[in-house]
Amino acid sequence: MASYDIIILGGGPAGYVCAIRAAQLGLSTAVVEKDKLGGVCVNIGCIPTKALLHSASSINLIAHQAKDLGIEVGTVKTDYGVAMKRSRKVSEQNSKGVEFLMKKNKVTVIKGTGSLLPGRKVKVGGDVHEAKKAVVIATGSRVKGIPQIGLEINKTTVISSDEALFLEAAPTSMVVIGAGAVGSEFADIFNAFGTKITLVEALPRILPIEDAECSSALEKSFKKRGIDVLAGARVVKATVGKDSVTLEIEAGGEKKSVTADKVLMAAGRAVNTEGMGFKEAGVQLDSRGFVKVNLATLETTAPGVYCIGDVAGPPMLAHKGSREGAVVAELIAGHTPHPIRYDNIPSVTYCHPEVASIGMTEEQCKEKKLDYQVGRFPFSANGRARASNETEGFVKIIREKKYGEILGAHIVGGHASEMIHELAVARENEYTVEEVDLAIHAHPTLSEAIAEAALDSMGRVIHT
Ligand code: NAD
Repeated sequence: MASYDIIILGGGPAGYVCAIRAAQLGLSTAVVEKDKLGGVCVNIGCIPTKALLHSASSINLIAHQAKDLGIEVGTVKTDYGVAMKRSRKVSEQNSKGVEFLMKKNKVTVIKGTGSLLPGRKVKVGGDVHEAKKAVVIATGSRVKGIPQIGLEINKTTVISSDEALFLEAAPTSMVVIGAGAVGSEFADIFNAFGTKITLVEALPRILPIEDAECSSALEKSFKKRGIDVLAGARVVKATVGKDSVTLEIEAGGEKKSVTADKVLMAAGRAVNTEGMGFKEAGVQLDSRGFVKVNLATLETTAPGVYCIGDVAGPPMLAHKGSREGAVVAELIAGHTPHPIRYDNIPSVTYCHPEVASIGMTEEQCKEKKLDYQVGRFPFSANGRARASNETEGFVKIIREKKYGEILGAHIVGGHASEMIHELAVARENEYTVEEVDLAIHAHPTLSEAIAEAALDSMGRVIHT
């Protein structure tokens, strides 16, 4: 029986970061992974979709702006298969990168499906491995269909992001069910490649967890590009054929029938908790199916067994899992890490325009009856945005009136995913809105819109 200080089940962004940090702290570490290192994020999630979104935004740029920018191009032809192959290469490079990091940090990678045995033991195939200090569950999540309405993923006409990432050609038409991050990103990608998209969201607006102003800005942009958005919509019947699917959809009191080559399910993910001996080892699940975790210690209900990443509960985001991975390694090694502020995790949807946020939405501030002031600044009034033809969107900052705390910040626009971190750092360090503006912002930059929104929340905006 091989023995390690710490054994991690799952080599995704939560598990592999945990392994590296544990090894840095001198713990003998093993990761059990049945597939490629890097998990969903690297292989069939964040990384390949960002490669495809780069293709999509390049298509939009060339097709709609080239002439204006002084570039003469002929007819723009797109090829999803080529973009897909590039995205696979990018994923492979990243997965190999993780392999390299495991070697560099002397982390043992055990290939196979691991299951938990009582007493901090992990079984992989016929071998049993013992963890002297801790086992960390980082088994992640997977796509799910909606069997209640006959929409099981059949991998041909009803697909998930797993299959969409390997299509050789863009379909002629596609219904995307669910307008969270996955649905919105794929709607954007396939729209750029010429697919007729119908985006169906059950809640009253797309990106329902974002601030309502961001949802409506994205909806406007999607509609302008020909995406049919049906929010507050219910799929009441699905007829799945060999080459197409017909959906009966109720939206806004009206019934609509939509037939498409493919339906892409993006209605949330299910966590991987089955068939790995969790129950027998004393690891309990909560009422939503996530592993029950004490968020202060990241411990499960089984002594010496910890849990991180998607399987430990929302938000199901790679960067949340990675942070939990680093923190749990430090806790297991006996350190006292900076506690995770679960209310300060940025959320980004990388479609065009990007939507990024941190903290509370205005709707949440209202619900909590907080005394707040909103500052806004549109990119249409920002010199750099005008210069780079990226005038869509805005920065919105919600400021607590008495002390100037940043309650929430929301950005819609090009590079929002990069800009949000200024506000993440500010909130982590409890800077006020005024202190955000006090830091001189270089001119001309898109980030000046953040300083201007900060000023606007205090009634002192300069450029609008
Ligand atoms: P999600 O839960 O974020 O969004 C699913 C959407 O589907 C919701 O808006 C929900 O209201 C809607 N929905 C559910 N059932 C429906 C139905 N029957 N008809 C129509 N709409 C329905 O899930 P997701 O977008 O699949 O993403 C899964 C997880 O992965 C999320 O936690 C997400 O944050 C994460 N993720 C993040 C990124 C990113 O950070 N850019 C990208 C992809 C995924």
